[in-house]
Amino acid sequence: MLVDSQTENPLGRAIVERAELLAAHSDQPDALTVTYLTPAHRAAAAQIAAWMREAGLQVQVDAVGNVVGRYASADPEAKTLITGSHFDTVRNGGRFDGRLGILLPIVVVDDLRRRGERLPYHLEIVAFAEEEGVRFKSSFLASSALVGAFDMALLDRIDADGVTMRAAMRAAGLPGDEAAIAALARDPARLAAYIEVHIEQGPVLLDRGLPLGVVTSIAGSVRMSATVTGVASHAGTTPMPMRRDAAAAAAEMILAIERRCSQAPTLVGTVGMVGVPNGAANVVPGRCEFSIDIRAGDDATRDAAVDDVVRELNAIARRRGVALDLAQTMRVPCAPCSPRLMDLLEQCIARAGAAPLRLPSGAGHDAMILQRVTEVCMLFVRCGDGGISHNPRETMTVEDAELAARVFLDFVRTFRP
Ligand SMILES: [Zn+2]
Repeated sequence: MLVDSQTENPLGRAIVERAELLAAHSDQPDALTVTYLTPAHRAAAAQIAAWMREAGLQVQVDAVGNVVGRYASADPEAKTLITGSHFDTVRNGGRFDGRLGILLPIVVVDDLRRRGERLPYHLEIVAFAEEEGVRFKSSFLASSALVGAFDMALLDRIDADGVTMRAAMRAAGLPGDEAAIAALARDPARLAAYIEVHIEQGPVLLDRGLPLGVVTSIAGSVRMSATVTGVASHAGTTPMPMRRDAAAAAAEMILAIERRCSQAPTLVGTVGMVGVPNGAANVVPGRCEFSIDIRAGDDATRDAAVDDVVRELNAIARRRGVALDLAQTMRVPCAPCSPRLMDLLEQCIARAGAAPLRLPSGAGHDAMILQRVTEVCMLFVRCGDGGISHNPRETMTVEDAELAARVFLDFVRTFRP
């Protein structure tokens, strides 16, 4: 597809059209689902590689399946600015989540190449093969390889059909061996920075009437699993004061989490899974299990909330005469974005005629992995239709995509390692 500069919003149009074309590849006929190394995933990778080549990038597929396109500087000794995002999706996901951060830079490099413009550093666009963790229940596989943090034990993990990750890699033509993956780790001394463009996946920009946002930090989450144990007993014969109802106790705990996590602007707390194992309509619940996910824009705010939640839940359990077992299943630190890069992005947004808004990212992104080895920043683009994401309704306008591309173009022109 050629970007016709005569039409209105040529870059935005190319981005939105390609997002639609890429969504034709799916594991499921009636929904957009692209999980790691399936035939649809490989077809999407091939399409991205073709667009990269068309744009003048040198393209390679690396040992974890990332499609890496390089726009080389005239100076071979120059450092590398990496940009990118993921092209896998959740089940029944949206067309822009992750993909925007691949398609937008490709369109911008195509524009640079047409003008014969080179950059004083190497620019690499990495289409990350895996971020969402759907097929092998482990997320950020692709970006962790670039920072030397790929967990090799995962190669023997099986998917729902009993296929190991190693076998899936080999079936996709990848080496599927530890040495090749270890070799993907980048030398931090050769990296200039990492910038990721992503759809906001929330309603903040939409509510404020602003097209673009500058991410201040990527929230790290603390996840816990809670098991409440009471006494299962007959629903008809156990008087209310004599019950030790695990589900009623869990309900009070869930409300306590909601109340505590409403007390700071960037703080959020979610109970996304609740279950009464072996429950029945005529049995007072003897056991209730639920998940807890707590995030905030900074670790101190989040950890203070976690401490309070743990204390409050234990107090509820004591008062109700039930046992509570809390196990922490995940703790990821917040990844702050680089102040220098945030300033630069903000200047680019202002030059494009928009008002920049700084906001934290409540969702995890590949940028939080890259932040371990280089300075990072993120450009958020307004999410339409109420800000809904991880949903087929996820959408953005051609005008917003165009503006984001113009800002990205300005950024790569003005960025210096
Ligand atoms: Zn994403």
